[in-house]
Amino acid sequence: ARADKTLFSFEILPPKKGQSIDGIFQTVEALLPFNPSFIDVTYHATQVIEKQNTDGSFIKVPVHKRPGTLSVCAAIKYKYGIDTVPHLICSGFSRDETEDALVELSFLGIDNVMALRGDPVGGDSKFTPASGGHSYAIDLIRQVSDLNQGKWLHHEIGETEPTDFCIGAAGYPEKHSESPNISTDMDHLKAKIDAGAGFIVTQMFFDNEAYFRFVDACRAAGITVPIIPGIKPLATRGQVTVLPKTFAISLPEELTRAAMATENKPDLRKVGIDWSVRQCAELIANDAPCLHFYTMSRSKAVKQIAATFFGN
Ligand code: FAD
Repeated sequence: ARADKTLFSFEILPPKKGQSIDGIFQTVEALLPFNPSFIDVTYHATQVIEKQNTDGSFIKVPVHKRPGTLSVCAAIKYKYGIDTVPHLICSGFSRDETEDALVELSFLGIDNVMALRGDPVGGDSKFTPASGGHSYAIDLIRQVSDLNQGKWLHHEIGETEPTDFCIGAAGYPEKHSESPNISTDMDHLKAKIDAGAGFIVTQMFFDNEAYFRFVDACRAAGITVPIIPGIKPLATRGQVTVLPKTFAISLPEELTRAAMATENKPDLRKVGIDWSVRQCAELIANDAPCLHFYTMSRSKAVKQIAATFFGN
């Protein structure tokens, strides 16, 4: 909020279970020269998969494919001295488990959290909270805000100390997929800010007009916190269809046409990078507080884009 120029930040995923953290360090080190203000680390809900027994029957097995959000955050923070922002989700956590996770974070000196609901799991169309857990991100934001005021779950105020978390919330320039319309989505976003979120990070978008309209609508609704645009350089032809489907976003026709006209991966990557560079230039010219890159733990394209704006 205090920055006088557009900052640089990025999001990474914890490694797949069984892989070392070295790949994460390589990604971070590739982007260190651009002076990241913070690094987000996603949280991945436990998925239930079906496995076949030797007798042919099937059992359902819970699988946590990418554990380690908290330790990746701590490792980066203490290895490189950069602020990290762990994503905390409602899915799979009771209120008590959430409180315990927040204790771990505060003991580690991590005082930022991105508070999210999480997506429905197991192919469900509707989100199901854990037993004793939260149904919406706002409930999680309220819990963290309560801790910031010294209100712990099973203690009297005065017995406990307040925490000092800075809380981020997700925003959707093209509307969240489950919202009936933009104005209902905006009401829910405003409620998250009123509940204590101090900044918004947006879903990825490829048309800056969507972001500019969203920022105007937020300001008109009385939201004054920084609204950080999420940028994703297109990296494969497959993403032309996968990204809109997965994230309920749209791709401008001009970008789709250019991507589909490419004949190989390097050409496609160039289209993606050039598009992001144009987006970033316009966002900086319009005083975006920070450019936040969805790296998907790959640094090459983001490095090239960041060099254009954040290199020495
Ligand atoms: P909410 O703010 O709870 O909103 C969910 C839906 O419910 C919206 O349609 C909203 O309008 C509606 N709603 C909100 N409050 C109410 C209410 N009181 N009554 C009725 N309806 C309501 N997912 C992960 O699993 N892990 C991650 O690390 C992760 N990182 C993300 C980072 C960013 C920047 C973004 C944009 C998304 C991320 N997601 C992540 C995905 C996110 O979990 C999903 O988009 C999820 O479906 C919604 O999360 P939310 O926090 O926006 O939920």
